[in-house]
Amino acid sequence: MISVFGSANMDLVAYVAQAPRPGETVTGREFRTIPGGKGANQAIAAARAGAGVAFLGAVGDDAFGPGLRAALAEAGVDTAGLRVVPGPSGVAHIVVEDGGDNSIIVVPGANGAVTGPAGRDAETIARSDALLLQLELPMDAVVAAAHVPRGVSSGAEVILTPAPAAPLPAELLEAVDLIVPNEHEAAALTGRDDPRDALEALLGLVPEAVVTLGARGALYGSRDGTRLHEAAVPVRAVDTTAAGDTFAGALAVARTEGAGPARALRFASAAAALSVQREGASTSMPHRHEIDRLLEGL
Ligand code: AMP
Repeated sequence: MISVFGSANMDLVAYVAQAPRPGETVTGREFRTIPGGKGANQAIAAARAGAGVAFLGAVGDDAFGPGLRAALAEAGVDTAGLRVVPGPSGVAHIVVEDGGDNSIIVVPGANGAVTGPAGRDAETIARSDALLLQLELPMDAVVAAAHVPRGVSSGAEVILTPAPAAPLPAELLEAVDLIVPNEHEAAALTGRDDPRDALEALLGLVPEAVVTLGARGALYGSRDGTRLHEAAVPVRAVDTTAAGDTFAGALAVARTEGAGPARALRFASAAAALSVQREGASTSMPHRHEIDRLLEGL
């Protein structure tokens, strides 16, 4: 079983020829509300990829809360640990221009009220094989969650997606088993622009690291000396939103099923390649049979 301790946001997406300048009002072409947030995205990706998943986090008592819960539940994610707190849910206010450029304002809302897991939530993490973390919750809460498995014999492996990029406190790094940044986050964390250099620097911080490279695939390194490069599956990408979250969710599934690093990378790459061929975030995430079918054909 996989626990995801993270954010749930409603994405409010306006599609427009050109984003308005200050003081200007423009008419948009289309509007969509799409459940998102890195935590919820990773939970849905892992559930579709075949794992039992529990989501721990918070939504507000507004109109968006039930929709966020329903999106997780529909994917088969256990939402018993999804709290309702007074005030607004997290939202991402997104403007997508015709050329594909977008600008995003994330207002954390209920995500900002999440504190370290206690009681039943801590027990859920303690029972898990893997714990997925990102950085869209308060850092103190993320650090507290990362330490829960350490108190448990054969506790969950802790997998951190360090996004949005932020300085990582030592108390967090000491509890992380595997870090999965994209190349930009890896550069921001390490000060090294070359992803291979960044990977080596990350291994000075945590035992295992994956640096994702978009259409160029992903690099893996471990302190035991293993180094791998998995090429991306060649596909025509139409929307790379949440490719990284799909990759991280699927990677966790493969690892909890006992896959070694090469197999786990391949499984995650296949899942992410399927997701970039479809629009949206959770809407684009593949089911297990689709991942297996793609892997059989490779
Ligand atoms: P990124 O977050 O952009 O580094 O992407 C995460 C993962 O998604 C990559 O490691 C690839 O496995 C996959 N991916 C991203 N973009 C593409 C693409 N254009 N074609 C195939 N796979 C992709």
